[in-house]
Amino acid sequence: MECVRCDEESVVHQRYSGLHLCQAHFLEDVERKVRREIRSYGVDGDIVVGLSGGKDSAAALHLLVDVFGEWRDVEVRAVCVHEGISPYRDRGVEAARVSAEAAGIELEVVRMDEELGISMEEVDGNELTTCGYCGVFRRRVLNDAALEMGADWLATGHNLDDEAQTVLMNVLRGDGFRLSVQGGVPERISGLVPRIKPLRRVPEREVALYVRLRGLRAVTEECPFAESSFRSSVRDLLNGLESARPGTKYSVASLPASLNVDAGKASLGSCERCGHPSGSSTCPACRHLESVGAT
Ligand code: SF4
Repeated sequence: MECVRCDEESVVHQRYSGLHLCQAHFLEDVERKVRREIRSYGVDGDIVVGLSGGKDSAAALHLLVDVFGEWRDVEVRAVCVHEGISPYRDRGVEAARVSAEAAGIELEVVRMDEELGISMEEVDGNELTTCGYCGVFRRRVLNDAALEMGADWLATGHNLDDEAQTVLMNVLRGDGFRLSVQGGVPERISGLVPRIKPLRRVPEREVALYVRLRGLRAVTEECPFAESSFRSSVRDLLNGLESARPGTKYSVASLPASLNVDAGKASLGSCERCGHPSGSSTCPACRHLESVGAT
């Protein structure tokens, strides 16, 4: 099939937009979506990118370096959290190092056991799935590392699929608070580095294609715990809906932006144990650290 913008052969068919695009116009389309997303945050100052070694964060890093490489007042650096899942994350850290080196930026590696006193290999709780604990702990370590590095923004590799899954997971859990703080431009709250997601309008399969076409290094191996997570069931559900009704992921991911976010943000206080910003009296990290006996 021919590209809708030139005579070249297309490399992708975007069913949600109806467009067939060749390699050059596909790369341009991804870069345009990322630039628009970055503009919507009004980014300035230093950005720390959370690298996992996977394709999404590798793409986010290279796109941010492309966008901000020439800006004198923006510095891009990276951090990788090793949560203790070996050998899976050892390979991720190695890929993150290669990625950072290729982009010519500094990489910090932080270990969850050194930051929180426990690694995921030692977590033995029964209140949540492994991902339930790991997600909360990884977010805390990532935030604190970015704070320590003096970052103004923390960029992650979340793509459209991740974003739509998170919205639907919050809906299915009946978690209006998390849903309300998911949309819009992140507020500056002391102790929290505002997060940006440059790829949140780019579908996962297009991020994978972008990484392949740009020849970026990324591990393809999935975490051994990913398949048993709630997110995995929601991913399958959304993939089925997207296939029957193209554009569903965009619609679901757009839901938080249409809600009244001020109501949720107004109730953000501080954790009474660690002082971290929290929507409840004890933050999720302290609650879960206690439940696995790490306090
Ligand atoms: Fe942690 Fe789950 Fe991600 Fe594995 S898939 S790194 S357990 S959050």
